[in-house]
Amino acid sequence: MLNIADNLDHIHHRIQRITKIVGRISDDIVLLAVSKGQPAQAIRNAYELGQRHFGENYLQEALEKQQQLSDLTDICWHFIGPVQSNKTRKVAERFDWVHTVDRIKLAQRLSALRPESQAPINICLQVNINKEKSKSGLLAENVEDLAQSVLELPRVKLRGLMTIPQNNQTETGQHESFAAIAQLLTKLRNSSPQLATLDTLSMGMSADLEIAITEGATIIRVGTGIFGPRQTPQKIPEDNTDQLDS
Ligand SMILES: *Cc1c(COP(=O)(O)O)cnc(C)c1O
Repeated sequence: MLNIADNLDHIHHRIQRITKIVGRISDDIVLLAVSKGQPAQAIRNAYELGQRHFGENYLQEALEKQQQLSDLTDICWHFIGPVQSNKTRKVAERFDWVHTVDRIKLAQRLSALRPESQAPINICLQVNINKEKSKSGLLAENVEDLAQSVLELPRVKLRGLMTIPQNNQTETGQHESFAAIAQLLTKLRNSSPQLATLDTLSMGMSADLEIAITEGATIIRVGTGIFGPRQTPQKIPEDNTDQLDS
């Protein structure tokens, strides 16, 4: 608890410091606490310290913790891992945001499976900004087409773009990757009136949040910087069958 309190304080200080330097408002930055591999109690501790946004990568792990935390009604859950087709229904039902939409099929299914009783689900398009073979996400040149198609879907609300840049870059390279995503968002916003309201850039983690904020991040995703090392195996084996549930 003490650690989480100190760590959260430290991250908030880093946000304050960099926003002051670059002339941004710290309240415009959402701190997303990435809680994969952390027990429900760690999430509860962070919640008690005022943290409200939590990010999970693995559905089964997330559902178990959500059940243990069901009394925390104003918590905001973000899905930030790859979404398998046969898991889409639960993602559509149990999360407020999905950061990793990279194909129209997934957006269509999220829209179709989002319960009527809930607000449309917030989504970001994940962009593979450094064109890495190993990474999911769209190439930059395909983003505008997907954004236009997503606008047709009634139960998803397109909010902006998300990226995980290549990790061993120089500082200049990191700046360039984040700046490229920011420029892509500006281009999208200018491309049509319905896209002018996009307001989200999900980028930056524990190690590079200053650079991301400098280049325009509105959501930073911080895991170990808040909770320390992950306690359960990071990769939870999931059933890989691709059967559809709709
Ligand atoms: C795990 C993860 C993070 C957090 O990474 P840390 O190094 O723990 O801060 C951020 N974004 C995504 C997509 C992740 O999977």
